[in-house]
Amino acid sequence: MEQKITKNADGTLNVPDMPVIPFIEGDGTGPDIWRAAKRVMDSAVERAYSGKRKISWLAVPAGEKAWRETGEWLSDKTLDTLREYVVSIKGPLTTPVGSGIRSLNVTIRQKLDLYACVRPVKYIEAVPNPMKHPEKVDMVVFRENTEDLYAGIEWEAGTPEVRQVISFLKEKMGVEVAEDSGIGIKPMSEKNSKRLAARAISYAIEHCLPTVTLMHKGNIMKFTEGAFAKWGYAVAKEKFGGKTITEKELSDTYNGVRPEGKVVIKDRIADMLFQQVLLRPEEFHVIATPNLNGDYLSDALAAQVGGLGMAPGANIGDDCAVFEATHGTAPKYAGLDKVNPGSLILSGAMMFDYMGWKEAAGLIRNAVAAAVKSGTVTYDLARQIQGAKEVKCSEFAEAVIERM
Ligand code: NAP
Repeated sequence: MEQKITKNADGTLNVPDMPVIPFIEGDGTGPDIWRAAKRVMDSAVERAYSGKRKISWLAVPAGEKAWRETGEWLSDKTLDTLREYVVSIKGPLTTPVGSGIRSLNVTIRQKLDLYACVRPVKYIEAVPNPMKHPEKVDMVVFRENTEDLYAGIEWEAGTPEVRQVISFLKEKMGVEVAEDSGIGIKPMSEKNSKRLAARAISYAIEHCLPTVTLMHKGNIMKFTEGAFAKWGYAVAKEKFGGKTITEKELSDTYNGVRPEGKVVIKDRIADMLFQQVLLRPEEFHVIATPNLNGDYLSDALAAQVGGLGMAPGANIGDDCAVFEATHGTAPKYAGLDKVNPGSLILSGAMMFDYMGWKEAAGLIRNAVAAAVKSGTVTYDLARQIQGAKEVKCSEFAEAVIERM
């Protein structure tokens, strides 16, 4: 019988054999990649559990179709459904222009308090990429999702509001800002920074990964970015004291040899980290980062293994999680059954991992890797792989299913 996934007080999930999972198919190419990804996910579950488990998909409206049918881009009912059913998945959504909504994705993350944007970055053999050793890239980025410059607090140059802020800064805070400035505010709180870092550390512990790196620009922004690193170290001690050591302790106390079972917590200034993930990627496993750094870093890392077309992602909070394709709606290809569904398919594998359906997740990952390795790929990869067989979006899904 179909049932809801529920959450226990300790954060673990109760996943029935026939869970109801809400989905938003998305705009533009969303319906194409959704159809392909759904087939792959259903087949993986069928093959992994021989019919004992099955997903009952629940369509929820959002985006252009919802706007046309109901006059609302993203209703409270949709948000309530995503919250109520705990685990859901979505395709890309158009950012409505001139509607007063900044971005549906940002709204979903903020309204559902999905504070961690989780992006695993791992090389899939044969995907064209710019690195000499792409196989050394194997990291998971935990990006804070709710604050920082994304809080959306800014005032345009020349407006009465910005003049008020500038005079407040001058008169009350003794700070001079050029009169013709626009101003944005960068709030970063202890609570939100700590819960993000805690989630990253707990992931590293659960998956026996050796390091967590706190990425920040604290040399310049001491009380926001610098505080992020400070709070990250603090939460590692407070919550995971027995299971973590700092990089300093590693060299001072342990002579550089990591004790079995301990996660090393280190921090890196953002610009230096961009160099190091290129030059020495094998030294990084989990990266915890504030919102803006994380935005840049996740896409840059995705490029190191061949781009966003195959990069999965999830937005996770304490109450619920929404898995999603990391690219946009690619509207010029809408309805052509052309684009790469890999990002959404692999987000489905991530979702199965999160639900504890590891066998289905493994089947998907291996089959995607096998399809790409055989050179059966969509246009975006085919144009870069000599001798590749270009297939449609739906045909790529078939190629994946055949290889399960
Ligand atoms: P985009 O939709 O990601 O598309 C940019 C380019 O990336 C495409 O023209 C295509 O490149 C390539 N691409 C994207 N998805 C692909 C796929 N599945 N397979 C193969 N190639 C793919 O970015 P955009 O044009 O900047 O944004 C369009 C809309 O999407 C905007 O409304 C934006 O706000 C929204 N958006 C939504 C999300 C989200 O829902 N999470 C994220 C980003 C953007 P080629 O032209 O080279 O083939």
